[in-house]
Amino acid sequence: MKTINRDKTSFVFSKDIPPVEHAGSGEMVRFQCQDCYCDQITEDGFDFSKLDRRQGNPATGPLYVDGAEPGDVLRIDVKKIDLASSGCACVREGAGIYEIEGNHCKRYPVAGGFVQYAHGIKVPIKPMIGVIGVAPIGGEESTRRPGEHGGNLDIKDLCEGTSIYLPVNVPGALLSMGDLHAVQGDGETVICALEMSGEVTVEVTLFKKRSDIPTPFLVTKTHYMTTAASDSLDDCNVKAARKMHRFLQDHSQLNDTESGLLLSMAGNLRISQVVNPLKGCIMDFPIGLANERFEG
Ligand code: CA
Ligand code: CA
Repeated sequence: MKTINRDKTSFVFSKDIPPVEHAGSGEMVRFQCQDCYCDQITEDGFDFSKLDRRQGNPATGPLYVDGAEPGDVLRIDVKKIDLASSGCACVREGAGIYEIEGNHCKRYPVAGGFVQYAHGIKVPIKPMIGVIGVAPIGGEESTRRPGEHGGNLDIKDLCEGTSIYLPVNVPGALLSMGDLHAVQGDGETVICALEMSGEVTVEVTLFKKRSDIPTPFLVTKTHYMTTAASDSLDDCNVKAARKMHRFLQDHSQLNDTESGLLLSMAGNLRISQVVNPLKGCIMDFPIGLANERFEG
């Protein structure tokens, strides 16, 4: 299996970042990832003023997918996420949605499937990928931002066993990922989760000329998930929900009315995060409920 080293990182998604590895459709690739602070926070009480903020959200890659052309769709199956033995979480004054004074950094051990939190509290882990994306259509996108190309999605369901579909905007797609979390809640309300370094093993599969997949699109073990990013939650949740509405009409026998009514009964409109430059929402729908036919 090909492995992309943890030093092969960039801070933007762009067609101008030279690929560091290539793979064919159906191939497995391992991405070694630094944490979102480039592993600068090595101890409790780290002085945040010493943090090099330019080094935020390193994404390992990019991977050139052989044969990928604009108009194609890339499916990335998350096979395995191996985490380091500890991670860090930080409060930064003025960031996130709470009123907490000062900057505070903590490191927490991760062992036996749990984060060993304060006061004997053990938090079950659900390892996930915060940043995953491809080169956007034009220019570049910071790895801090989510968007139609993927990026800083921070969706807690992007874990082992989930597949994410991303658009191919440039030859080779140029896939990168990083910002691993041992566990994250919907909203990611303090601005970070339990930030981890680690390794992600994925399989990449190319679908030629597909316009029916509402990327960035997730398929978990149980649900479809459409996603959207926007300046406001109001706009974001409408976009995510309408993507799922379209998906059901495209992939089942339900018409617009039937799809809308069913989504209102059985779909969940959720916040993924509220702390990135654009906010993120998800609409989920249980696989199989609409006798849908989705080949992907
Ligand atoms: Ca993130
Ligand atoms: Ca993060």
